[in-house]
Amino acid sequence: MKKVFRNLVSVKKAHEIIRSFPMDPEIEEIELISAYGRVVAEDYEAEIDVPPFDRSTMDGYAVLAEDTFEADEDSPVRLKLIGRISAGDHPAFEVKRGFTVEIATGAPLPSGANAVVMEEYCEERKNEVLVYRAVSPGENVMFAGSDIMAGELILREGEILSPREIGVLSAAGISKVRVYRRPKVAIFSTGNELILPGEKLEYGGIYDVNSFTLVNSVREDGGDPVFLGIARDEEKDIENKVKEALNCEIILCSGGTSAGAGDMVYRIFERFEPGVLVHGISVKPGKPTIIADLNGKPAFGLPGNPTSALMIYRIFVSPLIRKMAGLRKKHEIEIEAEVPMKIHSVSGRTEFLPVNIVRGGEGYSVYPVSGYYSGAITSLSETDGFIEIGEEKSIIEPGEKVKVSLFSEEIKPADLMIIGSHCIGIDIILKILKKKSDVSAKTINAGSSGGISAVKRGEADIAGVHILDESGEYNIPYIRKYGLSGKCYLVKGYLREQGIILPKGNPEGVKGIRDIVEKNLKIINRNRGSGTRILLDMHLRKIAEEIGEDFNSLISGINGYTIEARSHTSVAVAVLMGKAEAGLGIKTVADRYSLDFIPVRAEEYDFLIPKDRFDLEKIQSFLRVLKSEGFSKHLPSGLRTYERTGEVIEI
Ligand code: AMP
Ligand code: MG
Repeated sequence: MKKVFRNLVSVKKAHEIIRSFPMDPEIEEIELISAYGRVVAEDYEAEIDVPPFDRSTMDGYAVLAEDTFEADEDSPVRLKLIGRISAGDHPAFEVKRGFTVEIATGAPLPSGANAVVMEEYCEERKNEVLVYRAVSPGENVMFAGSDIMAGELILREGEILSPREIGVLSAAGISKVRVYRRPKVAIFSTGNELILPGEKLEYGGIYDVNSFTLVNSVREDGGDPVFLGIARDEEKDIENKVKEALNCEIILCSGGTSAGAGDMVYRIFERFEPGVLVHGISVKPGKPTIIADLNGKPAFGLPGNPTSALMIYRIFVSPLIRKMAGLRKKHEIEIEAEVPMKIHSVSGRTEFLPVNIVRGGEGYSVYPVSGYYSGAITSLSETDGFIEIGEEKSIIEPGEKVKVSLFSEEIKPADLMIIGSHCIGIDIILKILKKKSDVSAKTINAGSSGGISAVKRGEADIAGVHILDESGEYNIPYIRKYGLSGKCYLVKGYLREQGIILPKGNPEGVKGIRDIVEKNLKIINRNRGSGTRILLDMHLRKIAEEIGEDFNSLISGINGYTIEARSHTSVAVAVLMGKAEAGLGIKTVADRYSLDFIPVRAEEYDFLIPKDRFDLEKIQSFLRVLKSEGFSKHLPSGLRTYERTGEVIEI
């Protein structure tokens, strides 16, 4: 194979290279009893009839149906009892007209008989049976081969063995089954910072995620994962792991795949023949991906970032493993969905953008999952699928339709879809709600205005909002401007204490926003459009007025005014790390990082709910929890309910 080294290859080319690996599945024969989840390697035909003989499906009396035609409750027919047959017996009786045999469920029907009368409709007297009901020929009898006929196809190649299929095979007397051998896939992680969960975390260390996601993805794809542990970023260590991995059919490692000094995976792969085939794919996420052929075995060096590693696994490795495992069906299913907001994408690289699916007015919409590229592992667990954005495309406009590859075979939209600005208060409501009912809920963080537009589009049941209007009022003016009048209710939620986040101990002795200006402190600002930014600007306008200075000249003199953080947490972290001396944010976050906090104003966090869904039980239960004492009690510092909590306002 030709080597394409340190030269980004396209997604298409990478797929071609992977397809050129030999990947025909191998077959093995295993015991039926332990065949669960395996893929059948050939068609199976029944060699016998099932059931193998005519058998009774009831406890009762085997008869010739013709003998019972006259029977009814008032005038029973009398038949002579000539014996009894239990399940497993080999009856020597022959039933002739005027005779009967007692028979148990599952017992073979004696010759001559063609029906069974249930015992409830019979009365046994000495050597006679009184039959109080007529039966038709075949009643309560299962005839030989009526379940499965000899020669019938009972299982097709490629099917996955579940208890049902295994049951069918056992009924046909099959004890061993030929299945595809699970390809053995060696997995290891690389990185000096990695330790296994269960071990003590030292500073600078992180727990290994990729080994766990990859081992189980391989399992899901029908492979047999062999976990080799963690390799240090040392040539010898990595080389030893690779040598060990060569006992398997596929080699999968993660981390250390860039071309930096500490990244040596590609160099180790080069020690085998023919070595590295691809170093770098023109894709986002996951550019630093290595594909290699190590003495005839396919090997993949996946990026270390857990979300990238898993995405690259799904796109490039999963199809190979599934093919070798005999799983023909594609892992993902595709649906079409609409994009509600502008999405920017890198040009020159294919982007696989993780998304959540939401059911809207007509069909589905997609929301990009936030926090994905930073490697936030939590962003993985909530992801429904991804969209592929071609190399040449850099913007998807609102309203465009895209194809979504879903991670799961069925789309299970949650009962309760909450879209908007995310707040820990919602998590608490949902936690309480979960204990009380089995409503499933999904929260999507799209910001306050994203939530309002999701309500407008019919996607959200509830939107969590906190938008400060320039007038100084929260939520209502903005939502009215948005054109939702008459269509929604706003339910007052709770208060979020907003204020100045300061380093622990407040070294500069700050008492208010004016101090920040006067002491010329370095601040961290929030993104334009956020409620916190509007709050700061309102105060700065007032200060400008008080000191008789122009607003623009005031802010141009504030150190750090132009530096924007996108979340409360980022503001707190900037203060914690000493990158800023002050920033506006919520108390909850300041407390979480043990930072000082000076209250400025309580923000009103409310819930926007479409009128036509307001009376639904799931929404009413959500609101009941909001108003409950249990909720109030569980709120962390900085969040509190008040006399308006639960108040319903018509928009
Ligand atoms: P690398 O590709 O080795 O440069 O790693 C990129 C980032 O992913 C770094 O922040 C690593 O700490 C992180 N990382 C690498 N391997 C793992 C792993 N197995 N589990 C979790 N994070 C990882
Ligand atoms: Mg590393």
